[in-house]
Amino acid sequence: SYRKGGYHAVRIADQFAGGRYIAQRKLGWGQFSTVWLAYDTSTSAYVALKIQKSAAQFVQAALHEIDVLSSLSDGADMNSKCVVKLIDNFKHTGPNGQHLCMVLEFLGDTLLRLIKYNRYKGLPMDKVREICKCILIGLDYLHREHGVIHTDLKPENVLLVSTIDPSKDPVRSGLAPILERPEGSVNGGVTSLIEKKLKRRARRAVAKISGRNNSIGGEMEAPKSERNIDGIDVRCKVVDFGNACWADKPFAEEIQTRQYRAPEVILQAGYSFSVDMWSFACIAFELATGDMLFTPKVGQGFSEDEDHLALMMELLGKIPRKIATAGAKSKDFFDRHGDLKRIRRLKFWPLNKLLIDRYKFSESDANEFSEFLLPLLDFAPEKRPTAQQCLQHPWLLGIESTANEMRNESNVEKVDVGMSNLKIKVGK
Ligand code: ATP
Ligand code: MG
Ligand code: MG
Repeated sequence: SYRKGGYHAVRIADQFAGGRYIAQRKLGWGQFSTVWLAYDTSTSAYVALKIQKSAAQFVQAALHEIDVLSSLSDGADMNSKCVVKLIDNFKHTGPNGQHLCMVLEFLGDTLLRLIKYNRYKGLPMDKVREICKCILIGLDYLHREHGVIHTDLKPENVLLVSTIDPSKDPVRSGLAPILERPEGSVNGGVTSLIEKKLKRRARRAVAKISGRNNSIGGEMEAPKSERNIDGIDVRCKVVDFGNACWADKPFAEEIQTRQYRAPEVILQAGYSFSVDMWSFACIAFELATGDMLFTPKVGQGFSEDEDHLALMMELLGKIPRKIATAGAKSKDFFDRHGDLKRIRRLKFWPLNKLLIDRYKFSESDANEFSEFLLPLLDFAPEKRPTAQQCLQHPWLLGIESTANEMRNESNVEKVDVGMSNLKIKVGK
């Protein structure tokens, strides 16, 4: 992808925006961009530099992301919003073309890494609560104050906020930035030994400023032993607004990453803010258990979409016929009775049972957690609670007695368990 129209190749100490930003180390990458830790010489702070691929569609996407992010950041105190702040943007011309660059506040590891560091065992419930609360604050800000739907909420797109503020005098805290290519550079290149040293130094700096050393654990590779994240105040922010849209101008029909995709998107029955609430529930489950809630696969005689719908129904009960048959693609999957055409028998396994049986939750933990999640996984999008409502939920406040008082009927339909223990999928 490092060719014309693709990524811009960056080396440590490369300069951007007329020398204002100096590249320190690669932080991550996506389909659209590479993201670098950069030193902002004008503010003496570290920032994240998202350098977009240069082909026309990526430029377009970046312009859109800048548009959304600047409207979100405009005049707001972004520290309290749990949404990444856009600091600056500019164009950078390189051998592969002209790249739009976004300067974002520098954040820590993704939630996916956090889940990995915990060896996919699930985080302690109080950490799950803290993270859920942050994501909800972010969603409430997007939805209610800006009318923006994120449409790609997933663990990779939620980043931890560093426990140490990297913008606070990095030099004095021993995190001197790399300002120029060291001696030994030949035609702008450096010998591999120097390059290695530089990288190691940059890696140490990132680990230090992102709080990895003392909190979430080593970088990149899984830890030797489980990291202790107790006693760490976990905060996070939502990033990656490349696919976000204003609810009154949705532009893509197929949105969301597969595993976090809401049923109305699969059925093409229209969507709104509540698609983010569905993804949010999937993330909450994943944080608590270490496993994705839905991992659909293509099978013999059925598609990934059909498997996905089947998995949803096995967990949540049958999709009401009216909803199942209301989408532009409903006929591809359902007969007129609202039954899946090619997956005839479902093995129902309600959420609280799943939490107890597979994840060894205590009965009360399982019930409380599923009471929080199930309304978010309602097949009727308009019935899902908003982020604002969710923030009021007793599970988040951690008050068990209230949770019990407020216990609602869950939305799991009564199912005929005796029917079959086997999911039998038949070809047409
Ligand atoms: P996608 O393919 O998901 O659309 P993308 O190209 O739009 O990705 P982002 O998701 O914005 O790029 O960023 C890619 C990765 O870079 C993130 O998953 C994260 O690891 C890292 N990253 C992004 N923004 C920041 C930031 N502000 N601070 C630190 N790291 C970041
Ligand atoms: Mg991303
Ligand atoms: Mg993106």
